[in-house]
Amino acid sequence: MTVPVPPRDDADVPRFLTELGLPGIIDVHVHFLPESVLRKVWAFFDAAAEHYGMSWPVHYRRPEPERVAILQGLGVTAYAPLVYPHRPAMARWLTDWVTGFAAATPGAVPTATLFPEPDVADYLGAAVEAGARVVKVHVQVGGFDPRDPLLRPAWGLLADAGIPAVVHCGHGPVPGAHTGLDVFAEVLAAHPRLRVVLAHAGLPDFADALDLVGRHPHLHLDTTMVGTAFTEAFAPLPPDWASRLVDVADRVVFGSDFPNAPARLLGLSD
Ligand SMILES: [Zn+2]
Repeated sequence: MTVPVPPRDDADVPRFLTELGLPGIIDVHVHFLPESVLRKVWAFFDAAAEHYGMSWPVHYRRPEPERVAILQGLGVTAYAPLVYPHRPAMARWLTDWVTGFAAATPGAVPTATLFPEPDVADYLGAAVEAGARVVKVHVQVGGFDPRDPLLRPAWGLLADAGIPAVVHCGHGPVPGAHTGLDVFAEVLAAHPRLRVVLAHAGLPDFADALDLVGRHPHLHLDTTMVGTAFTEAFAPLPPDWASRLVDVADRVVFGSDFPNAPARLLGLSD
């Protein structure tokens, strides 16, 4: 098999997909947020030198309709717009917002998010009932313990419904109070039917993440920002990563972190 020439720029991505024989891209890791929240997220990335010790230029900082159009132009035919709270009493509001966004936006699938709080099963159950197809869980930004007993009904509900959770629980780009694949492995052990996508392929613990995928048949990896020039600088992939991926190829999904990635969609550095 000949491998097509990688895209020169974003405009060249559809040509690349055609030559690969792919009808389009399904992106499991995209972010859309209410304007007020997005402004704060972008301000956080603008101060990334302070938070992460490196600059993080948000590549696609454009008005919402333009961001939707850019995804279409890249050949992204379906995507999960992910929202996540950094404090209690915010997940219900974000979930309601993204439900409306997905209903109004072709290509966007309905999603939901969660936080350990007494009404989590209530709003998550309602979102699942309304058709949510992916749930985002951000352990680092949320600062919560994924083993929190308040989350047990939420994990159970998702396992029963077979709805995947994209979980950012790795120590990268910076560790949180409850990050770590070993911590999240306890959730997987307690809910063996839970479908989970390890965001950023477990960055920076790529080898441990693959070990975990080997042990849990419903565990997946997303490729979000993995192997880009940006992440290779502080979280390089193990040399055997790509060859190990072959064994679990049906459990690897594409993610981009659009629009917040500090590089173009397919990882070309700027
Ligand atoms: Zn993300």
